[in-house]
Amino acid sequence: IALNQSNLPHLPESFVRPTYDRSKLKAGIVHIGVGGFHRSHEAYYTDELLANTQSTEWGICGVGLREADRKIGDVLKQQDYLYTLIVKHPDGKIENRVIGSIIDFMLASDDSSAVINKMANEETKIVSLTITEGGYHFNPVTNEFDFDHPDVQHDLANPTTPKMVFGYLTAALKKRRDEGLPAFTIQSCDNIQHNGDMTRRMLLAFARKQDPDLATWIEEEVRFPNAMVDRITPVTTSADIAILKDAGVDDAWPVVCEPFHQWVIEDTFSNGRPEWEKVGAQFVPDVTPYETMKIRLLNAGHSVLGLLGSIHGHQTIDGCIADPLFATYLRRFMDIEATPVLAPVEGIDLEDYKSTLITRFGNPNVKDNLARICLESSAKLPTFLIPTIVENLKKGGSVKYAALVIAAWCYYSDKGTDKNGEALDIIDAMKAELHNAATGTANDKLSFLKLEDIFGELINSETFTTEYSRQLDALYTKPDIAQLMGALIEE
Ligand code: NAD
Repeated sequence: IALNQSNLPHLPESFVRPTYDRSKLKAGIVHIGVGGFHRSHEAYYTDELLANTQSTEWGICGVGLREADRKIGDVLKQQDYLYTLIVKHPDGKIENRVIGSIIDFMLASDDSSAVINKMANEETKIVSLTITEGGYHFNPVTNEFDFDHPDVQHDLANPTTPKMVFGYLTAALKKRRDEGLPAFTIQSCDNIQHNGDMTRRMLLAFARKQDPDLATWIEEEVRFPNAMVDRITPVTTSADIAILKDAGVDDAWPVVCEPFHQWVIEDTFSNGRPEWEKVGAQFVPDVTPYETMKIRLLNAGHSVLGLLGSIHGHQTIDGCIADPLFATYLRRFMDIEATPVLAPVEGIDLEDYKSTLITRFGNPNVKDNLARICLESSAKLPTFLIPTIVENLKKGGSVKYAALVIAAWCYYSDKGTDKNGEALDIIDAMKAELHNAATGTANDKLSFLKLEDIFGELINSETFTTEYSRQLDALYTKPDIAQLMGALIEE
């Protein structure tokens, strides 16, 4: 049967479904970027909250800023904005849960003023974001907003018909200020360190250029809570859709995720907030130690396995962990390079956290594809991995495990194939630059490290370049990544 509101009572008995009255919900949250992660995380927490309280304030209106979001918009609309969250446990158990917290969706390119009006509406208390790391227009080297992007230029010139996120936020906040309404909170749920501070800085840089008075109002009125977000959410496959169909439910775009979920949020909101603490979120005064731990162990761990595994010919994260060499390598990287430069985290035993991570990564039912893990590596590695290298260089720590990952990334960008010559699916906004720099390796061994936007000052560290060159030589002589990993572990 088709998944929609009227069919909810007829779904298979095992399906958990919304029992609250969705017709009474107001859209207190407008969410930009309704990808898999929003649907497995914030929408899930909010669904759980709506199921457990009488709240009617916190429905979610999804917004897509890109033409590519048309498909999710069409699917959600056809299903009365319902979808199935397929929670896959490591022991093979599967829980299907229909999420009801999303109640509307708008595609910005269809009607930009409708989106601005929605955000500016009094009912909207929070605008939350999962727009990927690249959506923030942050230049990691200058540490400033990137005004050169054509969409940014467009939005500066066309404030009422924007294209990118900061154009929309600025237009909506201007309307609220002009109408005497309180500001909404802007809540980033992207994997970026201090994601709230980052959003604030980028938005203010943009707004200041467009309308300095408005920027001052935003500075004073808008809160941007930092948060650490976690729940592994791979891309939905046709097999996932088929499994639901076999169970008797037609859902055109379910979401798959692991059972683990974590959300640590700084408790600073402009205009009220859902009581997510009632459903497992943690509100803290300072999220820094939690997010650094997560980004440098989980996210960096993903990139380590993703780049090395891609060259080796592994397909998925669990496939890597099932290979003892990769599992050992990851643990060594975490123990010897990542952990020594992490501050202690209150209430968390790092040894347990790392062991749990390896179990989560090894979940054979969550087929997290390495192509997804490696996409947009140029936006990820500067926060996930490079800081660990930089801090180890400062204190004389080991950098060899990370150096092999960078060498592997160079090989991956240069050849675009695994060690057997199979083509890799590389998606990266800097793909051409990465490829050009990597192909330069033949004439200049450090060519790849000259991508200053990514590697910053690494090229000036003799300790690092010596280690990197050693690994790169070995890899280009014989691209047997497993042998190189084994040799490093043995050293
Ligand atoms: P996805 O591909 O399913 O969705 C990405 C969403 O971001 C889409 O709605 C897309 O339109 C939007 N987007 C991309 N670039 C944009 C831009 N420049 N401006 C505006 N919107 C843009 O990906 P996902 O799995 O939902 O992941 C999204 C983000 O969530 C990640 O980049 C990461 O920061 C965070 N996250 C993901 C996971 C995970 O396991 N998938 C876990 C933790 C955090």
